[in-house]
Amino acid sequence: MTHNFTKRTLASVLAVLCAAGSTPASLLTNGFIGSAALTVSAEGVDPLTHFDAVEPTCTKDGNIEYWWDLLTLKFYTDADCENEITIYDTIIPATGHSYGEPEWTWSEDNSAASAVFTCSACGETETAEAAVTSEKKVYPTHENEGLIVYTATAEFDGKTYTDTKEEVLPTNTLEHFDAIEPTCTKDGQPEFWWDLQTLKFYLDPDCTQEVTIFDVTYPKYGHDFGDTAEWNWSDDFSSATFTGTCARCGETVTEKASVTAETTEPTCTSEGQTVYTAACTIAGKTYTDTRTVVLEKLTNTLPVITTKKGSGSVKLSWTAVKGAEKYAVVAYVNGSWKKLAEGNTDTYTVTGLTAGKTYKVAVIAKVDGKWITDVSNAVEVTAGEVSPYPEVSTEINDKEVRISWEPVSGAEAYAIAYYRSGKWRVLKQLPPSVTYYVFKNIPTGTYKIAVAAKLNGKWDTTGITNKAITIIIK
Ligand SMILES: [Zn+2]
Ligand SMILES: [Zn+2]
Ligand SMILES: [Zn+2]
Repeated sequence: MTHNFTKRTLASVLAVLCAAGSTPASLLTNGFIGSAALTVSAEGVDPLTHFDAVEPTCTKDGNIEYWWDLLTLKFYTDADCENEITIYDTIIPATGHSYGEPEWTWSEDNSAASAVFTCSACGETETAEAAVTSEKKVYPTHENEGLIVYTATAEFDGKTYTDTKEEVLPTNTLEHFDAIEPTCTKDGQPEFWWDLQTLKFYLDPDCTQEVTIFDVTYPKYGHDFGDTAEWNWSDDFSSATFTGTCARCGETVTEKASVTAETTEPTCTSEGQTVYTAACTIAGKTYTDTRTVVLEKLTNTLPVITTKKGSGSVKLSWTAVKGAEKYAVVAYVNGSWKKLAEGNTDTYTVTGLTAGKTYKVAVIAKVDGKWITDVSNAVEVTAGEVSPYPEVSTEINDKEVRISWEPVSGAEAYAIAYYRSGKWRVLKQLPPSVTYYVFKNIPTGTYKIAVAAKLNGKWDTTGITNKAITIIIK
């Protein structure tokens, strides 16, 4: 009884010490077992002590069932002390906590989350704060709700744990447009969002990149005809047709062009040209081609002169020159050409000439501000005898008659005379610069009139009858 009591007491003490956290190894090293062994020995107790197996916990070591000889300090797995082990073989290490998947808790606005780990063995809990990220998986529009996904990531015990939470985003005022690649013939656009309320455009559904309507239009490319472009002109260049095959889309386009012409008139000194420009617009691009026709220099630069002999004068008439602004009558005098008169007319009477003498005259034209000094159209002229009676012409209009005459070289005055009752009488005297006169309200009748010039201070009327003309007023 005493032995058993003592043995049980010692075992109980050891068990209590073990339960308090001491390992058999620590009991050994701090000398307790040694003194216990001596005590046991002194009392003559059986030195072999039995230890029950102790299950380890999450945090505390356990041990196998074993026997310990307190005199020899040897350990055995059996009561017969046949299988000796070391003290370390007796220890079953603590298991550690067994944490599985955590429970997640999220804040109201999903901006924060934490993972709570519970030990399946002992029920102890640990909390790991998570980092939260969010991603809009579906952006809301005025037609569709959106979806945002929050992802929480926590590190615990060397492992990474994640949890996600979805949240529906309410519809808004945005209209969504898909990106469209422009083609040769159609405009494209980037992906964009249009706020139907503010009418603003954005390149992103979060409306951080506002743009203009022009930024959301990618203009069509237009065709790329390259060197397949071909122009077919009509013979007179009044029409042209464009044909080309696009290197980008393969389309062959035939288009009638509109043709405009711009002409630079030729002059007698330089060629002119007509530039024909054909233009057509295909898919927003304008294509042009030109053809140039050279216009020969003007050869029609010389007036063709006709002459009429007058009394001490020669009347020159000439043909018009294209583009002439003015004409000049020139005469070859003493070895050089001298200008006698100029004006925009086609006739001129050279006066003051000596009858029978030959004169050389020409008519030149002024074109584009320049005198064409080509006198190859020069003619030689001879004036008639100076007569006081010029060539007279009349123009009758009802009771009115206009009498005009060629100037007489050296005339000092003119007189219009009429014949009545067998005598010539002066009807009107006029200065030498005047070569016509109009009579009005003439009574009905037949009149005989003549025009004479005053020469060298004298009125010479011999032969006036031969020069008379008859006028009939009805
Ligand atoms: Zn036992
Ligand atoms: Zn535990
Ligand atoms: Zn194309």
